[in-house]
Amino acid sequence: MIPEKTDVAIIGGGPVGLYLAGKLLQNGISCVVLEKKTEIDIHSKSLGIHPVSMELFDKAGIAHYFLGEGLKIKRGIAFWNRDKIGELSFSNCPEPHQYILAIPQWKTESILQQWVTHSIGASFIRGADVQSIRQNDKEISITGTFQNSPFEISSTYAVACDGKNSFVRKSLDIPFDGGPYPDYYIMGDFDDNTDFGSDAAVYLHKDGLIESFPLPNGHRRWVVKTDELYESPILELLQELIQNRIGHSLGNSENYMTSSFGVQQYLARTFHSGRVLIAGDAAHVVSPIGGQGMNLGWLGAEICAEQVTNALQNPKLSERFFRAYSADNKKIAKHTARRAELNMHLGRKRTSTALYRFGVKMMLKPPFSRLMANLFTMRGLGKWPF
Ligand SMILES: Cc1cc2nc3c(=O)[nH]c(=O)nc-3n(C[C@H](O)[C@H](O)[C@H](O)COP(=O)(O)OP(=O)(O)OC[C@H]3O[C@@H](n4cnc5c(N)ncnc54)[C@H](O)[C@@H]3O)c2cc1C
Repeated sequence: MIPEKTDVAIIGGGPVGLYLAGKLLQNGISCVVLEKKTEIDIHSKSLGIHPVSMELFDKAGIAHYFLGEGLKIKRGIAFWNRDKIGELSFSNCPEPHQYILAIPQWKTESILQQWVTHSIGASFIRGADVQSIRQNDKEISITGTFQNSPFEISSTYAVACDGKNSFVRKSLDIPFDGGPYPDYYIMGDFDDNTDFGSDAAVYLHKDGLIESFPLPNGHRRWVVKTDELYESPILELLQELIQNRIGHSLGNSENYMTSSFGVQQYLARTFHSGRVLIAGDAAHVVSPIGGQGMNLGWLGAEICAEQVTNALQNPKLSERFFRAYSADNKKIAKHTARRAELNMHLGRKRTSTALYRFGVKMMLKPPFSRLMANLFTMRGLGKWPF
């Protein structure tokens, strides 16, 4: 089942590893994706695909799969406590994707998996747990277990897309600079019992941020800022905080998922070491508030696919190509991290002053609203100053 040799081994078949595999295959490069989970985790993390990613999907010829399953969020409504203070429309963003596409991460992963395995024919191996990686100046050797048996595969290059606790990054001794923030949230997906339709709503509340996003199939996600990290059970707490802060009852609305999360920000000091590159959360973790981590991973995977293809065509210059990947991707990751931090800062209690309220209102009016819409949709990364 697992081939003995390939051009590129990809460790981790989450959204970033899968997209990277698809791009390499489209470039005519053989690759194998080694994913330790035996099935897709249906616990939904990411919900938003940004226009910059839809543009990548257009180029790859896969945007229609996502459009068929997602819901277009064209507008966000901002509240100060319970008072509406403005709206942010994405209609002035560059065409054709003037929206954020809401789609649960498990659905995104299953679309990418389908594309990679059926349409293009990569070796995507589920249940392959990578446990060691060694390299010399000619090749890489990867070992692990698959269906309780050991396996070994050699490759010319490898890309670690194995998430924020990346085993490969640790094996390569690449420092991961950053740490946790003192910000905690609980979230849940419910039947949508609001009148918001396909609009998102953000409540900048004195007791802490509440975000509400439409999902496909008549569902809606609620994200609520809390003072501490709650483990479980949190459904009643989630309902109570929403009721108390904004007066909305979720009592009769069916719940599909609840979870809690803390926020961290990390950046790997380099995104490559010899023949091994790192991508996605293995290379950078940004705050989920603003919903940009997975999208950032795809932007990096696009650059990674190009530079790995260059290296295979011109191996003598591989170090130069990989340095360029590291520098370009790091720049984008730093910008994204700053924006994610801004989003998170907006939702903190201590920022809820009258002056701040005035500032937010101004930001939602032209000409600033256009800039804000572009910032929220990940435009200008690596080019703008923030
Ligand atoms: C609550 C929450 C909400 C979020 N919302 C958004 C959002 O709206 N928009 C957005 O862009 N981002 C969002 N994110 C961030 C997003 O979920 C991540 O950035 C994204 O999952 C990163 O993808 P990845 O492929 O790099 O890593 P992962 O999704 O972590 O995938 C890594 C894969 O590697 C596999 N793996 C690990 N170790 C090994 C090994 N040794 N051998 C083989 N396989 C291995 C794992 O099983 C896993 O499948 C959110 C995150 C959270 C926590």
